[in-house]
Amino acid sequence: MERIDCDVVIVGAGASGLTVANRLKDAGRSVVVLEARERAGGRLWTDDIDGAMLEIGGQWVSPDQDALIETLDELGLDTYPRYREGENIYIGPDGELKKFEGEIFPVPRETEEQIVSLIDKLDALVAEIDPDRPWAHPRAKELDEISFAHWLETQTDDLEARENIGMFIAGAMLTKPAHAFSALQALLMAASAGSFSNLVDADFILDKRVVGGLQQVPLLLAERLGEAVRLGQPVRTIRWGGLGQGRADAAPTGVVAVTDSLEVHAQHVVLALPPILINRISYDPPLPRRQQQLHQHLSMGFVIKVHAVYETPFWRAAGLSGTAFSPYELVHEAYDNTNHDDPRGTLVGFVSDEEADGVFSLTPEERKAKILESLSHYYGPDALNPVVYYESDWGSEEWTRGAYAASFDMGGLARYGSDLRAPVGPIHFSCSDMAGKGYQHVDGAIRVGREVAAEILEAG
Ligand SMILES: Cc1cc2nc3c(=O)[nH]c(=O)nc-3n(C[C@H](O)[C@H](O)[C@H](O)COP(=O)(O)OP(=O)(O)OC[C@H]3O[C@@H](n4cnc5c(N)ncnc54)[C@H](O)[C@@H]3O)c2cc1C
Repeated sequence: MERIDCDVVIVGAGASGLTVANRLKDAGRSVVVLEARERAGGRLWTDDIDGAMLEIGGQWVSPDQDALIETLDELGLDTYPRYREGENIYIGPDGELKKFEGEIFPVPRETEEQIVSLIDKLDALVAEIDPDRPWAHPRAKELDEISFAHWLETQTDDLEARENIGMFIAGAMLTKPAHAFSALQALLMAASAGSFSNLVDADFILDKRVVGGLQQVPLLLAERLGEAVRLGQPVRTIRWGGLGQGRADAAPTGVVAVTDSLEVHAQHVVLALPPILINRISYDPPLPRRQQQLHQHLSMGFVIKVHAVYETPFWRAAGLSGTAFSPYELVHEAYDNTNHDDPRGTLVGFVSDEEADGVFSLTPEERKAKILESLSHYYGPDALNPVVYYESDWGSEEWTRGAYAASFDMGGLARYGSDLRAPVGPIHFSCSDMAGKGYQHVDGAIRVGREVAAEILEAG
């Protein structure tokens, strides 16, 4: 077993862990980053699939994500806007395709009124929520006891309005059915993006992409750390001193992070992992009761990101932006995802939660056929024959286990949220899934990473 000594050992070379490591290194601390996979980046992964550059994980940048934007500037990375010229598509409950511009779908007038009213109500509630402390809202417990689907039922009888508003948070963001998470969790999701209106505005939330791919962020951050990043090193055990007299704020007593071939001795450890993976590591002594409990109340969402590359972006010639939505389609949302300066055209679509379960029970050929058929409902028969087709399947990735990120079960956010990021002696937690602003996004991963680095520097 090789032994390394350093000030801080970071477990996980995603955007969050690498931000912590760079901040600490810049402040003069010695760091080691242990990464289970043979690559850095975690849920950021830009790869060449059959000759097409695809963003298998995260890709979009929105204008409020200043921590990410600052990082892109620091690393010298350029962005380009998502293609959005022309008309968008909506398919209603009767299967009828309608083209539209602007943000509100072409639904019957009464449904439109209900959608606008729901957006107003949600914006008003979101304005009362501090994304860093949603549990502090006076009605937090009550809002965490009701599912988002049920909350919507208490607001309107209009099913199409509910299904559309539900889709923005359920299928499109938390990637769980709207009956599986609370209204408070939905409000946190919206508050993390500034408002519910921002979430429903694709031009805002899916504004830009990075030339060459978003994985360059973690790759360049890792490059700055050189040999301090050790790939292919899943951490199996953390030995630590326990909490002095049971006090959570007891002085750190040092830690050892153990992989199959390394022992890293440090003053602090940062677990920069999706919180659902914290339980996969053994702790000696065990984590306190509170952490052992709370990590059981989070689970990953589940979505298939589908990439279809065509010889040309044929939908543009038909005056279409490529943006398409329908809560009634297998692919509930799809976009023009053509790469910067690429003559070929790429569509990206998403199949979420129970729909994803359904198509994963099929053979790969049947699944592909069903997904392409759904795309053809939006874009016509030309969508049936891509030259490259790929499904991002994060549910099968041992070191992620779902997409996009983790959220609490019903009641979990009000009950445990305030302890999610609280350090336990020398053990600190950093991940996009623990962020307030930028929750479930790269921006949040970087924000939390910066805060954790500051917390460690303050602890001395
Ligand atoms: C399909 C998809 C699309 C997305 N789209 C967007 C988007 O458009 N915009 C956006 O901002 N965000 C998007 N996201 C979310 C974004 O990618 C994540 O929020 C962000 O990358 C998470 O960074 P992180 O460092 O917190 O966690 P991760 O990236 O999950 O990093 C954690 C790291 O820890 C490692 N690890 C786990 N266990 C161990 C262990 N025991 N020992 C050592 N290492 C371990 C993992 O291998 C991983 O590298 C998307 C995510 C997915 C999956």
